[in-house]
Amino acid sequence: MGSILIKNIQLDGQKRNVLIEGKRFRSLSAADGAVAETIVDGSGKALLPGLYNAHTHSAMTLMRGYGDDTPLEMWLNQYIWPFESHLTQNDIQKGYDLATREMTQTGTVFFNDMYFHIEDAVKAVEESGLRACLSVVALNGHPHANIEAELDFLKQWRDPTGGRISFAMAPHAIYTVPEEKLLWMTRFAREHGMKIHIHLSETRTEVEDCLKAHGMRPIAYLDSLGVLGPDVIAAHCVHVTQEEADVLAERQVTIVHCPCSNMKLGSGIFSYERMIQAGCRITLGTDGASSSNNLDLREAMKFAAMLAKVGGNPQLLPAKQVFDWATRCGAEAFGIDAGIIAEGKLADGILVDLENVKMQPCHNLISNFVYSADSSCIAGVLCDGKLIYQKS
Ligand SMILES: [Zn+2]
Repeated sequence: MGSILIKNIQLDGQKRNVLIEGKRFRSLSAADGAVAETIVDGSGKALLPGLYNAHTHSAMTLMRGYGDDTPLEMWLNQYIWPFESHLTQNDIQKGYDLATREMTQTGTVFFNDMYFHIEDAVKAVEESGLRACLSVVALNGHPHANIEAELDFLKQWRDPTGGRISFAMAPHAIYTVPEEKLLWMTRFAREHGMKIHIHLSETRTEVEDCLKAHGMRPIAYLDSLGVLGPDVIAAHCVHVTQEEADVLAERQVTIVHCPCSNMKLGSGIFSYERMIQAGCRITLGTDGASSSNNLDLREAMKFAAMLAKVGGNPQLLPAKQVFDWATRCGAEAFGIDAGIIAEGKLADGILVDLENVKMQPCHNLISNFVYSADSSCIAGVLCDGKLIYQKS
């Protein structure tokens, strides 16, 4: 069992020695004389929880900066899907590698992914040391969507990561997956204890088309099919009435707010006040690097907080709350026993460089990290008891 001792690191406003044994935090106030296989100098650094990215399409790093400044439907139909039809499996592997490197360097320890060729995603996760929930994706007519092949792979799969990977069924959206397949995937996920990962109420067009086709808005439609439940991870939920927010809260659906993608694609403004009033479970995501245009969840925290305030009330979505969405709430949504720095919890975390100019002065660490920092402030990343990134 490996061990790491991080000496003299700032935690909860005090200098501490943090001892990690195996995968978990053993002591947050170890003695100066404590011993460990690896000693890390934490001087001038603070320890914060790692970031849990609850919605992305990681290998879409390949399409970063491609088809910018277009609305969702045009962006998908004229740019993204035609581009993807030319990608080889080898290209996609490179996309996964690029994504895991970017996430590691920006403080992310977990990502909930919706993309193709799970086998390649597994390799990238295994090599990076990150955690992930990977999806079997249904997307009508997409050349890389192959449910049978993905399920065949999962049948013979043996976890090489010691529990860092879980799986979900991902019907892409109500407008890209026929009802019958959506229902089959929901049943399959529930029989196998998998999450159900879907885009929901992302654009006004989606809502209007659903009203035309089913006489109901998307959330009511999915609820009428029995899809909504505590195992559902619903990305976006931008166009949501108060009644719909109440349904999402009642069904304990995990909502993933993706502010950068919603703003860039002009999809709309997340209904923060409605969601909070209803008591919804909220987490944070970047969406793919083709719409956000990076996988930096710290940046998404800042945009989410700003977007909540832009209507005129600066008290909405304080830094501590958005930080909780990106850390504790994300880990909880995926049943990962982490998301806070506490003895006995899985040792995920970020070593923040307090000597970086963007972190000085430090009146409030969380505020600096949400509003001022960038990835240059990240000195190291811990995941599952291992130091998976150290800034050189
Ligand atoms: Zn998405």
